[in-house]
Amino acid sequence: MIAYPGRLKSLFAALFLTMSASLCIPALAVTSKPDPALDKSPATATQLPQRQPPAVVFAGRIAGDATSTRLFFDFDRKIDFSSFFMEKPDRLVIDGPPMLFRFAEPELIKPRGLVSFLRYGAITAQKSRIVVSLARPVKLNRFEVVEIEEGKIFRLVVDLAPTGPAAFRQMIAEQRARFGASGEVASKGDRVQVSNKQPGRFTIVVDPGHGGIDGGAKGISGTREKDLTLAAGRKIAEKIAAAGPFDVKMTRNDDVFLSLGERVAFAQRNQADLVISVHADTLRQKWVRGATVYTLSKRASDELASQLAVSENMSDLIAGLDNPKEEDVVQDILADLTARETSVFSRSFSRILVGRLGQKVNLIKNPQRSAAFVVLKAPEIPSVLVELGYLSNRKDERLMNEAEWQDGVADQVARAVSDFFKPRME
Ligand SMILES: [Zn+2]
Repeated sequence: MIAYPGRLKSLFAALFLTMSASLCIPALAVTSKPDPALDKSPATATQLPQRQPPAVVFAGRIAGDATSTRLFFDFDRKIDFSSFFMEKPDRLVIDGPPMLFRFAEPELIKPRGLVSFLRYGAITAQKSRIVVSLARPVKLNRFEVVEIEEGKIFRLVVDLAPTGPAAFRQMIAEQRARFGASGEVASKGDRVQVSNKQPGRFTIVVDPGHGGIDGGAKGISGTREKDLTLAAGRKIAEKIAAAGPFDVKMTRNDDVFLSLGERVAFAQRNQADLVISVHADTLRQKWVRGATVYTLSKRASDELASQLAVSENMSDLIAGLDNPKEEDVVQDILADLTARETSVFSRSFSRILVGRLGQKVNLIKNPQRSAAFVVLKAPEIPSVLVELGYLSNRKDERLMNEAEWQDGVADQVARAVSDFFKPRME
């Protein structure tokens, strides 16, 4: 699922210049719709304003070669786009209103010429994005919407031509001067109201991994991680809400993208007592299977954990955002390690959860592992990342798709949450 496998290390070490989409940042982005099953969780109930249905992208094409490449996308109505470049890796990011991508002939949008990879999808409830990964630095020779059939078909035409690395960097510097330096999709702050915490009640944040433009891992039979984490996350949230004095909040309850920073901020705004991030990734080691519970540590417990943290931390980059700077991550984690208590609680929950999960499902060898996962770095909130299994393993993929299996896991997670908070309940 990673677009740039050979370059991971240099990528991660690189400083990511911040390019902004700030001119089109919507004021909003509440990420979850209310789920009737979760009536007890008030924070998920913030309603989005009614909007017109998304534009449909029904055709697209990439044509040309390494000297000149044209992309076009056909829509059912006139919409406005904005675009900006990012480097390390080089990308063209195209933002527009909500779009449904229904390419009639997907083979026509296979990367070629100056385009090395194409990704598209929702980035917030009110914004969709196309991320064009570039084979080398390019400039835009044309970027415009033309009417193909009156009132019915509109086409975004994008012409790319090679340019030098210096000119590309210069262009990005100019963009930054114009648009500012905020790479966040949504502005931080109080876009979700903080609920007043009630004594004797605990707030649990369930965080279904990936979403929207970031599909996460892909299984051998085609399962998308973002769908699996949402389905399992909903069940887990529902079971926890029913298991005790728990207010459960989901970071997302539909198919939208959330940056790693937003997930952490969501938990902090809601004064969460526990964060459970739900995943089902792939590993190069296809034989590896079974549930694993990860906590935060500066140094990875082992090679698998380190591999996973690198791939998880790429989520922002995949969506055309800046990756967190490595030194920031390390620094935050160092600060985090001084918060000994949190880290002790995280490990304690991890131990309880592993014990509970083991009664129901297959566990990996050494199921309690740790690495530098950005999504776990809220210093004041015990946080774990659960890999339900691995989509790179055929057996795991089949099981994880079964509703009964998901129910069983959700039950065990809810029991673990009860066990964990029992000492703090009257
Ligand atoms: Zn994942």
